[in-house]
Amino acid sequence: MNRSRILILMSATGGGHRASAQALQAAFAARYPDRFQVEVVDPWTDYTPWPINQIPRTYSPIVARALWFWKLLWLVFENERALSAVLRLAYLLCRNELRKVLQDYRPHLIISVHPLIQHICLRLLEQERVPIPFVTVVTDLASFHHGWFHARAERCYVASEAAADAARRHGLPARKVRLLGLPVRSAFTDALPDKATARARLGLADSGFTALLLGGGEGMGPVAAIAHAVARRLAATGTAAQLVVICGRNKRLRQALQRSDWPIPVQVCGFVDNVQEWMAASDCVITKAGPGTIAEALICGLPILVSGFIPGQEEGNVSYVVENGVGAYCDAPEDIAATVSDWAGGNQLPQMAARSRKLGRPRAAYDIVDEIAELVDGEAAESEDS
Ligand code: UDP
Repeated sequence: MNRSRILILMSATGGGHRASAQALQAAFAARYPDRFQVEVVDPWTDYTPWPINQIPRTYSPIVARALWFWKLLWLVFENERALSAVLRLAYLLCRNELRKVLQDYRPHLIISVHPLIQHICLRLLEQERVPIPFVTVVTDLASFHHGWFHARAERCYVASEAAADAARRHGLPARKVRLLGLPVRSAFTDALPDKATARARLGLADSGFTALLLGGGEGMGPVAAIAHAVARRLAATGTAAQLVVICGRNKRLRQALQRSDWPIPVQVCGFVDNVQEWMAASDCVITKAGPGTIAEALICGLPILVSGFIPGQEEGNVSYVVENGVGAYCDAPEDIAATVSDWAGGNQLPQMAARSRKLGRPRAAYDIVDEIAELVDGEAAESEDS
């Protein structure tokens, strides 16, 4: 049997878009191993001419070292006219290269998990007269760039009421907007280990308060200062406690933390592919407001201390956490440390943890691929009829 080809378009800006693309690809493989062939492509890097193909690479250095500049770019592109002028220009400069994506993959359906793909891709499909469905999976939780939404998308999958409202405001009819959650890797969907098992597997002490600290896939933000402040404060309270710091791809951070002396047991890791186990082993997570990490922490039922955010796309995630009663926000390392030590010694953690688990959507990736499979079947039936 010929498998239908599905193309997932993402861009390697941060870890979240790629993680969601991989989650969807894995969910298709798990649910429909014989029906779909799913490829993940970064069109901005692999199908645009120089120097446009260099732009995705500038994202991490900009958000790590020049947040003010990112904020400025975000503000400029908040203006719909400015954004659509830039996307029109990008389309004109890139259309010949982008056409090759369609030729190379000949997809039956396209999924976008990036805010700057909708307009260009839908225009390309129209100009090339390729009548295949195009769907968007919004991988932000609560702040949305309007590039995410295009009235001609066949479906728009979102992870919050705020995102559903934004999609409808941008002209998507309600029936096309589906609130199914943010797709996370199947390791978070399939049986998570219990706390004792996860701690034993990871070589952590089996009792005592355990805080997990991370800064997204790139280990961004003042992670070192937070780690030292939290360790000092937990040591001063005298409660049995340990800290895990996941530095992601930030090697310098990992090396510096591994060389440090700590007043409590501290595990420092580089990029790990078992975040779900570290979360399962922990009592709370301290993180920048990355949508991927927040969605994963909710599934694991963890209270979340938000320690910072990238202006623009992560701002709304702070209120999402605070308003849903699943955590708190503070950005000064000493305030973060004070809050974590209050949590360690207080009795509010179980309630926050319960609310957190309730808000999590472990099956999002499966639910989304099930609907997309129906969409492909519907299209196939329609083309047979006509
Ligand atoms: N992550 C990971 N290993 C690490 C650090 C992070 O797999 O060592 C994953 C994390 O589980 C999440 C993603 O990277 O799925 C980070 O996404 P988020 O949206 O939180 O932040 P971003 O990196 O996109 O800014």
